Amino acid sequence: MAKSKFKYNPDTVSYEKVDNSFVQKTKRLIPHFIGSLFFGIILVIVFFYFIDSPKEKELKREKQEILANYQVLNKELDEITGVLKDIQYRDDNIYRTIFEAEPISKDVRKAGFGGVDSYQSLRHLDQKEIVANTTQRFDIISKQLYIQSKSFDEVADLAKTKDQMIKRIPSILPIKSSQIKRIGPFGMRKHPIYGIWKLHEGTDLTARKGTEIHATGDGVIEKIKSSKRGYGNQIVINHGFGYKTRYAHLSKFLVKEGQKVKRGEIIGLVGNTGLSTGPHLHYEVRKNGRAIDPINFYFEDLTPAQYDEMIKQSTQPGGQSLD
Ligand SMILES: [Zn+2]
Repeated sequence: MAKSKFKYNPDTVSYEKVDNSFVQKTKRLIPHFIGSLFFGIILVIVFFYFIDSPKEKELKREKQEILANYQVLNKELDEITGVLKDIQYRDDNIYRTIFEAEPISKDVRKAGFGGVDSYQSLRHLDQKEIVANTTQRFDIISKQLYIQSKSFDEVADLAKTKDQMIKRIPSILPIKSSQIKRIGPFGMRKHPIYGIWKLHEGTDLTARKGTEIHATGDGVIEKIKSSKRGYGNQIVINHGFGYKTRYAHLSKFLVKEGQKVKRGEIIGLVGNTGLSTGPHLHYEVRKNGRAIDPINFYFEDLTPAQYDEMIKQSTQPGGQSLD
């Protein structure tokens, strides 16, 4: 049996029995309970929102590490892009130029992308964008590297044939310089017979009739033609690589059509046949059909001083061609 408790009440100046039943006890506890619950909820909210759990801290740390790694990666990509650009420049302006290959167009070099973003332009992007952009930069660089390696393959092939090319490209005077009396100009000039302005597609080397004419590069005799007009008796040598040379107004042929000749080999003698005003050799150099000033193709014969003198002579105002 539960003991009854009494509590003094000063208002009524008497002891009153305290109701100590379970219901009454519970009723008294409710405000405490609500207070605790409210305080607990506040704690949980503070805990979740403002204080990270160890697992969350770990994840955040990992995320920052990944981001830092991407930034390092992008800085390295900047460096690689710089090196690649340097290689591309050298390829177009040195290697491909030496071997007379067209430079690779900028559009092809870009590999179908509008250029490579640098790390600087990635700095303000969020995490997802940085990952996407980095991946794209890798794609671009790997495609550009593929194009570059293809270009080097081509240059390597050209280098293998370069040896042949050096032997074949015209590079000497067709007549010994000691036997040349005068050099007539290449280009626009008044025709010595018709008196009209006409392009002179070669140079006229004045020399005695019967002076020996030399092949200026290795090649094959492509044409031997006798005529009383125009070029007169002429020889055309095909050197390959797009180069041909013509020797006109000859008095005698010393080779046959289809014959292979070496640079320096005697192919004929100077004459005055065809449309000519005196014994001379009309000499032409053509690249892919287009006439080029032969003065650019005497480089093996002449010292720079002689070359300079020759340019002066051939560009003298009033310099007369003999056709
Ligand atoms: Zn001429």
